[in-house]
Amino acid sequence: MVYLTNTVYPVAQQMEESKFSFEKAQAGNYDLDNFAWIWKITARDLFASLVLPAGWHWLLYSSNYAETIRTMKFNKDYPAEKHLWREIPYCVSTVLMGTVIEIWAMYMYSLGYFQNYFLDWRQGQLALFCWIFFIPTWRDGHFYWVHRFMHKWNTTWIPDVGEWMYNNAHYLHHQSRNTQPWSGIAMHPIEGFIYETAAVVPCLFWHHPALINFIKIELTLSAILGHDGHDFPGSGDWWHQIHHTKINCNYGSKTAPFDWLFGTNDYTGAEEVEEQEQKYQEELNRKSKKI
Ligand SMILES: [Zn+2]
Ligand SMILES: [Zn+2]
Repeated sequence: MVYLTNTVYPVAQQMEESKFSFEKAQAGNYDLDNFAWIWKITARDLFASLVLPAGWHWLLYSSNYAETIRTMKFNKDYPAEKHLWREIPYCVSTVLMGTVIEIWAMYMYSLGYFQNYFLDWRQGQLALFCWIFFIPTWRDGHFYWVHRFMHKWNTTWIPDVGEWMYNNAHYLHHQSRNTQPWSGIAMHPIEGFIYETAAVVPCLFWHHPALINFIKIELTLSAILGHDGHDFPGSGDWWHQIHHTKINCNYGSKTAPFDWLFGTNDYTGAEEVEEQEQKYQEELNRKSKKI
């Protein structure tokens, strides 16, 4: 842990550099060299955003093992290449939203708004354990609510903000139906920003600042694995695959209880989903013929 926070991710140094740069800016010195830490965060995030999905995509779709692993694929067809080129720029934009959020957090530390943190991990072993161990509860809970927020609310007594959010932002993520690793964080920047806010949830409580970066990586990784379209070797997320086919169900993940509580859980079998997908494709063909 000490190695991680001192060498791989020297967060204390990053906090100091950010504090220095903001203090200099307040005094009227906007020298770009003072903000080198921002470029470091951006470069690190962009590197991770490309390496993780590219590596996983290569393994499942292009490597020597791809054909073997294809037997585990939910939808035996591979998505058209145009989806890949549509998804990649949106993945980069989502990661940059995470970068903006981390920079904001550093600004808050510099101003002293966040005092509830520890830099020596021995001061907060229990807190660190809880933050990481309970990710399937609190992080997936955050995902459920921000995701549910962007689908139809079906309200008549207040404006259906969810419907607006779907039509203007979340629809983009749903353009990927036969999902692949790059589909995971292919989101409209509005959705990308909301999704990445999970990284600063620990800042509301007793926490280590390195959690921000840790959660950002987890946000990318879990989405890549959850959308890779295969039952194995990733997380085999058939649950979320159904969401991409049927849309109005399975808003969260199986580890957060909200879909079960609100009756939106759907664990349909493969045949019905395939039938649904076929109908959707036929509908698309009919529409394109009309055009
Ligand atoms: Zn999805
Ligand atoms: Zn959705």
